[in-house]
Amino acid sequence: MDKLVPFLPTPLQLLSDDEIRRAGIRLYIKRDDLIHPTVSGNKWRKLKYNLADAIAGNHATLLTFGGAYSNHLYATAAAGNALGFKTIGIVRGEDFESELTPTLLFCREQNMDLHFISRQEYKRRNEAEYLNEISKKFKMPYLIPEGGTTGLALNGVGEMATETQSQLGFRPAYYATAAGTGGTAAGILSTGSNVLAFSALKGGGFLADDISELLATSENPGNLQLLTQYHFGGYAKWTPELLSFMADFYARHGIQLEQVYTAKMMYGLYDLMAKDFFKPGDTVVAVHTGGLQGLLVQKMTDNQSGT
Ligand SMILES: *Cc1c(COP(=O)(O)O)cnc(C)c1O
Repeated sequence: MDKLVPFLPTPLQLLSDDEIRRAGIRLYIKRDDLIHPTVSGNKWRKLKYNLADAIAGNHATLLTFGGAYSNHLYATAAAGNALGFKTIGIVRGEDFESELTPTLLFCREQNMDLHFISRQEYKRRNEAEYLNEISKKFKMPYLIPEGGTTGLALNGVGEMATETQSQLGFRPAYYATAAGTGGTAAGILSTGSNVLAFSALKGGGFLADDISELLATSENPGNLQLLTQYHFGGYAKWTPELLSFMADFYARHGIQLEQVYTAKMMYGLYDLMAKDFFKPGDTVVAVHTGGLQGLLVQKMTDNQSGT
C-alpha cells in the first residue's frame, strides 16, 4: 500500500456563517476530499482494506463495476495502477463505448480495461450466478462490487469516524454524508455514531434496507436517518438552484463541493438547519466525501441535467 500514501489525518474544519449561527449548532466539515489526489474521499477509505485483501491473496487483477461518471471506477483505476494491479472496469451502458466521458478517459489512461454492457445486464451486477460467469470470463480477478461497498469497506470508513472523534475529543451528535450505495453511511454507523444520510438518487428509500444489511454483523450500530428528498431529479442530475448553492458555499467557505453528491448533502443540511431540525448546541460533522473530478463533467455538460 506504500504507493498510495494518504494525507492523514484529513483536516476537520469548523464552518461559520449566519445560517449556522441561527441554528445554534457547531458544524464541522471533515475534509476527506484532501486524502489523495486521485483516490479521493470515501473511495480511498472504502478501497483500503479491499486492496489489502487483494494484495494478501496475491491477486494480479481487480475487476469492478460502475457508471460512466463513477468516482469509484476512477479511484479503482488510479489505485490499481499505482499498486501494480491490472484493472477491469465493467461499465453500465454500451452507448458510452463510442463516447467516453472524462471519467472513462481517465480510467483508460490509468490502463483500466473497459468493458461496456447493457443497462439490462448491469442490473445483474450483484447476482452470484452472474459474478460466477464474470469471474470465469475474466480469469478469476479480485471482484470489488459497485461503489467498493463491502464488509471490508466499512472498516476503512469506520476509521474516518474514529479519526474525527479523536480530533474533536468527543462523539458528534450526527455525521452527515451523501449516499449512493450506503456503504459510507454504514461504515460510520458501525462505529456507533448517528448518521444523516442524504440520498443522491431518486427513490433512495431502498438504502435503509441495504444499510441495515451491511450492518448485520455490527454490534450497537448508531441511529440512521435517511433523507430522500434532496436528489434534485436523480442520480447525476442537478438544477441551477443546486449549482448556485454550490457557488455560494464556495464563496463563503472557500470549499469546493460537486453537484452529484456533496452539494446535495450540504444543501439538505442547510435546509434542515433552517427547519430547526437540530437542537442548539448539537455538533454536526459533514463528511466531504470527495468526488471533485466530477466537476469536469459538469463543465462539459453544463447544467443540462442529465447523465
Ligand atoms: C461514491 C460517493 C458517495 C457515495 O458513497 P456510498 O458509500 O456509495 O454511499 C458519496 N460521495 C462521493 C463524493 C462519492 O464519490
